[in-house]
Amino acid sequence: MGTDETLTIALSKGRIFEQAMPLLAAADIRALDDPERSRKLILDTSDPRVKLVIIRASDVPTYVQYGAADLGVAGKDVLLEHGGEGLYEPLDLRIARCRMMVAGKPDPGLAMHPGRRRLRRIATKYVRCAERHFAAKGEQVEIIKLYGSMELAPLVGLSDLIVDLVESGNTLKANGLVPLEHICDISSRLIVNKAAWKMKHARVNDLLQALRGAVASSVPAAAD
Ligand code: ATP
Ligand code: MG
Repeated sequence: MGTDETLTIALSKGRIFEQAMPLLAAADIRALDDPERSRKLILDTSDPRVKLVIIRASDVPTYVQYGAADLGVAGKDVLLEHGGEGLYEPLDLRIARCRMMVAGKPDPGLAMHPGRRRLRRIATKYVRCAERHFAAKGEQVEIIKLYGSMELAPLVGLSDLIVDLVESGNTLKANGLVPLEHICDISSRLIVNKAAWKMKHARVNDLLQALRGAVASSVPAAAD
């Protein structure tokens, strides 16, 4: 996959693909297939020297770290969990923006009670971020790793709180939960394999500059 003439870009379908493609168009890269309709995992583009690999969002840093893709588009949430080893993160693409939050039932009183006999339980897909957040506050907690639908956990007594991504807050609201603490702002980043950065520097740099220009001239997403 990593021959010298080809640049391989890893990204996930859904919101990241939809929001990244207009930026890639500024670098004259257009997908020849729609990943929502095709079962292909490797998409050719209008540039014969550029291929897209369509993978799960949380797998993007791994593909780029090992050089299976030269570049990738990954959420900051995914990068914080991955750790970023073997990667450069040269550009904030300012897409797929949301916030990582602590959320829970609206009455924090009980969960916060100083006399409680056990550690608070936090259900999340973002174990590292959650650990870091509560450690920084000096609170020891019990983290419960989940792979999705975190909103369910407090409703059925699996956890006291969750750490999840929040955009509009509608999913929390629909489940009777409220945002309680802001951990960090999230957006998607361009990531580059460290070896590709050296070996394919001219091509990677051209793409980086085109994307930088596209990001600068894109309408800033409303801070919701
Ligand atoms: P998977 O479905 O493979 O478990 P995922 O659910 O994290 O992964 P997506 O929902 O496509 O995949 O999210 C991809 C990325 O988009 C996330 O890593 C995050 O950076 C961002 N994202 C997730 N949820 C939101 C949201 N509600 N608003 C804006 N961006 C979001
Ligand atoms: Mg999802």
